[in-house]
Amino acid sequence: VAAERETGIDLVLAQPRGFCAGVVRAVDIVERVLARGDPAVHVRHAIVHNGRVVADLEAKGARFVESLDAVPDGATTIFSAHGVSRAVEAEAARRGLAVVDATCPLVAKVHAQGRRYAAQGRTVILVGHAGHAEVEGTLGQIDGTVHLVGSVADAEGLDLPAGTPLAYVTQTTLGVDDTRAIIAVLHRRFPDLVGPETRDICYATQNRQAAVRALAEVADAILVVGARNSSNCNRLREIAAETGRPSHLVEGAEDLERLTLDGVRTLGLTAGASTPEVVIAEVIAALQRRTPVRISTLPGVIESASFPLPSSLGHS
Ligand code: SF4
Repeated sequence: VAAERETGIDLVLAQPRGFCAGVVRAVDIVERVLARGDPAVHVRHAIVHNGRVVADLEAKGARFVESLDAVPDGATTIFSAHGVSRAVEAEAARRGLAVVDATCPLVAKVHAQGRRYAAQGRTVILVGHAGHAEVEGTLGQIDGTVHLVGSVADAEGLDLPAGTPLAYVTQTTLGVDDTRAIIAVLHRRFPDLVGPETRDICYATQNRQAAVRALAEVADAILVVGARNSSNCNRLREIAAETGRPSHLVEGAEDLERLTLDGVRTLGLTAGASTPEVVIAEVIAALQRRTPVRISTLPGVIESASFPLPSSLGHS
């Protein structure tokens, strides 16, 4: 700590980092619905997996619930960026709830792809993490039995009758290399399998994973700013750790206090797709309170993606 105080650190920021187009759109949707004055705006599930984003929208009047059972009749209901199952859609329709769907278009694309495979008579495998909101939604968007595979061991253990026509889709926020390994096992075991390779892993996830790898080449340690329940933040930390660099997921400035950063001259910093810029700025400010910080940004992909709002919200 003493050395850190004397000489300061070089802080290198990953490019890109933080919000993706799907998260920008989802937050925008909630803000626009609140601004138009709908009574009792309810959001099913955290709109994106970040506590600060949720708290800010709560302060503006949004109510977050995990089930439609907690939504009163007549309330406007927003589906989170992670998407929902057909059963949830059907329940909202049965209740006559006014729904605004903030499902990321890239998640909706995976739903459509899975449904197409099922319509072709294929049994669908979903590569993803059990219990994640997106996975729950995707499982419930595809007709028939969908087999969830979360690891190479799952892929090795998948027991399906020989000759079953098979296809797979994947969660959008997986680790690219882990997913490739799982898909390789599936192809070896089921030679007629079809699927998108790693193309279902969205552009934002792939770009942030490439950027954290580049960061690990120049940094002694890596901070990933983001929530512990965020899939893409956790993958970023894992990928950084796989390079051998000490890698820490920090939810915000308060988490910095437990980190010593002893011997760290060059610190890399990135943030997952659900982490707002304000939290990144707070973490940097907390670092600056403990040591002189020289900040630079690593060259990387400049993202330009943006997704249109649902037509019910009018323009853009
Ligand atoms: Fe969409 Fe990817 Fe962002 Fe998820 S991480 S909201 S899939 S762009």
